[in-house]
Amino acid sequence: MNKEILQDISVLYVEDENDVREFTSKLLGSLVKKVYSAENGLVGLETFEKHQDQIDLIVSDINMPKMDGLEMCTRIKKINDLIPIVITSAHNNPNFLKKAIDVGVNTYAMKPIDLYQLVESMIKAIEPIILKRKLEQLNISLETRVEQEIQKIKSILDAQDNIVIVTNNETITNVNKKFLDFFEVNSIDEFTEKTDNIYDFFQEEYGFVTRTLLIKQDCWIKYIKNLPEVDRVVKIKNKNNEERVFTVNIDNYDNKIDYFVISLTDVTELKEKSNLLEYQASHDSLTGLNNRNKFKELFGKEIRRGIRYKNDLSLVLFDLDLFKNINDTHGHQIGDEVLKDISQIVLASVREHDTVVRWGGEEFLILLPETDLEGARNVAEKIREAIENKKISSLDLSITASFGVSVLKLEDEEDSFIARVDDALYEAKNQGRNKVITM
Ligand code: GH3
Ligand code: MG
Ligand code: MG
Repeated sequence: MNKEILQDISVLYVEDENDVREFTSKLLGSLVKKVYSAENGLVGLETFEKHQDQIDLIVSDINMPKMDGLEMCTRIKKINDLIPIVITSAHNNPNFLKKAIDVGVNTYAMKPIDLYQLVESMIKAIEPIILKRKLEQLNISLETRVEQEIQKIKSILDAQDNIVIVTNNETITNVNKKFLDFFEVNSIDEFTEKTDNIYDFFQEEYGFVTRTLLIKQDCWIKYIKNLPEVDRVVKIKNKNNEERVFTVNIDNYDNKIDYFVISLTDVTELKEKSNLLEYQASHDSLTGLNNRNKFKELFGKEIRRGIRYKNDLSLVLFDLDLFKNINDTHGHQIGDEVLKDISQIVLASVREHDTVVRWGGEEFLILLPETDLEGARNVAEKIREAIENKKISSLDLSITASFGVSVLKLEDEEDSFIARVDDALYEAKNQGRNKVITM
């Protein structure tokens, strides 16, 4: 018998026989937290009314003066219909038992009182109440624990600088504050009213993961997840209509169900910077033409392609004539202006697939795929004439240039090809400048 559960309860004990009441109260007192005793139903009712928040169980005789036990219990049940009741009585005829059941008595202990039987009846009556109470406490503490955990996760999500979305394939279940701010909504509901899916916001632009692409996939989230990191890039307009670039990272937080945590990291500045760095690394800062590094990247490939497919590949190398004089006479700044103007003249004279390179100070190199020697010579001649005939820089200066032209030979390597066109240029200078020499 689980007597321990009685330790925390208080009992109202009602009995009109003084001896029995005193004796039993004393015994009960050693088992329960507190015993309130009363000598008849009326006093019992009054005691209950006074201490109803403390009293957990009623043990009552039936036959008593002033108010009998069943009457008292009926009234008490009106105040608290959940209070468990144990009746002690010498009666055991069916009518009496029926009446006791009607009143809502839980158990019954025969008189004369056998303490063992009484305690057993009390436990039987109180056990469900105690269990219910414990369960309620457990639920409350569980609820607070869950609520605390949710708040903790929420604040972790909100502290994120990234936009975070928790979703299964179909529905968004959680988002962080950054998400709400970015999309200017107060709740997920408000967001889903505006749009079916977050990818509706992904801009259609080459080089980015787009809505058109994602709408075709069985599971767009898995599709992005399986892309290499460098390709998981999307463009979304913010509230000021500025295009922002994000990398998309996707984690499963539960492998059994398709639940995903999607985080969008704004890399706009980083991307601009890396584009800029890439540009700076491959272009000349004064003229904006390709630099030697960029040329080297292309040159080997073009030579291999030229030899393999027997495609002509030509080079034009030219150098401004007596350029030193311009610097000396008009200053370096005008010299720079001339170099910029020359670049524009060259760009206007070549085709889209030709590569114009600032080779050195006032030396320029043009790589012409699928162009034979005669074609390259014509290009050089055209540029030579254009330079000769144009007034250049803010001072309307006249200037000329000397050209070397050469076409790729089967036995060529990068160095031999360059050396030949360099020799041709040297020869053009030798023959009095403002000339095109082929070799
Ligand atoms: P040549 O006809 O023999 O080529 O005579 P040149 O005076 O052009 O030859 P040289 O190589 O002696 O001089 C080239 C000059 O180009 C020297 C240098 O100061 C100038 N130069 C090189 N790079 C730049 C530049 O970026 N800006 C300016 N303003 N001048 C440059
Ligand atoms: Mg020169
Ligand atoms: Mg030079």
